[in-house]
Amino acid sequence: MKKDINSLVRSCIAALTPYSTARDEYKGELGIFLDANESPYENGYNRYPDPHQKALKAQIAAIKGVAAENIFIGNGSDEAIDLVFRVFCEPRVDNVVAIAPSYGMYKVAAAINDVEIREVQLGEEFSLSVEAILAATDENTKVVFLCSPNNPTGNSFPREDMLRLADEFEGMVVVDEAYIDFAEAASLKSEIAQRPNVIVLQTMSKAWAMAGLRVGLALADKRVVELMSQVKYPYNINVATMSIVSGLLAKGIDTEVVEIKAQRAVLAEALKGMKMVQRVYPSDANFVLARFDDADAVYDFLIADGIIVRNRNRVKGCEGCLRLTVGLPEENEKLIKSLKRYEESTIR
Ligand SMILES: *Cc1c(COP(=O)(O)O)cnc(C)c1O
Repeated sequence: MKKDINSLVRSCIAALTPYSTARDEYKGELGIFLDANESPYENGYNRYPDPHQKALKAQIAAIKGVAAENIFIGNGSDEAIDLVFRVFCEPRVDNVVAIAPSYGMYKVAAAINDVEIREVQLGEEFSLSVEAILAATDENTKVVFLCSPNNPTGNSFPREDMLRLADEFEGMVVVDEAYIDFAEAASLKSEIAQRPNVIVLQTMSKAWAMAGLRVGLALADKRVVELMSQVKYPYNINVATMSIVSGLLAKGIDTEVVEIKAQRAVLAEALKGMKMVQRVYPSDANFVLARFDDADAVYDFLIADGIIVRNRNRVKGCEGCLRLTVGLPEENEKLIKSLKRYEESTIR
């Protein structure tokens, strides 16, 4: 049986009269716009953006194979994460469950919204335990956050496990697919029609190479999209961003993704050949997580060499680990050379 999303929504949001613009009522072809106190002097940006982002949604719908009504566009997926809290979680009453180690924003958004977050450590080889997650939930748990492929561990979780969790858990399940374009596993976006409690997050920030433009997606049941749209700032995506994103979307990303995946294999192989590297974790993303004998020393050496990577040494479950983003071939080559130079400097 399909779950009723409305029963999970905060009462103040369920009762909300959302902001509406006079232009929502405008259906004509031509018009003189004297409704929004804009400047009449055209410069490309004097008008407010479409708060419904109709044109961009139509383009994304065609690319993703998801109906426009199932697409929410946010100022980065970070906005979508925050909105999930604001729509579903009553501060100081409700709680959420998230996997750990994972993306830091779930915890930050929980703290900002004054909502308790319960972290469930991943198991052996960063595996997902549906039972452990369900055991951490109670009657006030509104949302479970999963991330697949996971940041910073790089692995994807089995599809059937994520779906079983969505079926057995009474609240919302957010599956953050920021790295899905680099993964062999298919997106869960095809499941949203059957499962109104699943919210799939994707982003333009990674494979689509638009981190600077701030565009993230939530792919979900129509009612969930409607709720998130009512709570967002009306003009969360600006005119300049929409037009640039539209142009870049048309170009596609196939060749870059193929190259990054090939370079990921090159980097992983090189790391596996280094004695100071204890473990190179398999990756479905555009980074490689590797465990070093002395991660802090390697990190400092790389910094001195002008290369910055992500030190995850102090993250529980990632002790000794650095997360290395796959860059251009020549950048990866410099990274590998630098690591080799470090290794030689330690063998005396
Ligand atoms: C990078 C990343 C994002 C992207 O966030 P944006 O706000 O869309 O840039 C989302 N989730 C995870 C797990 C990430 O690593």
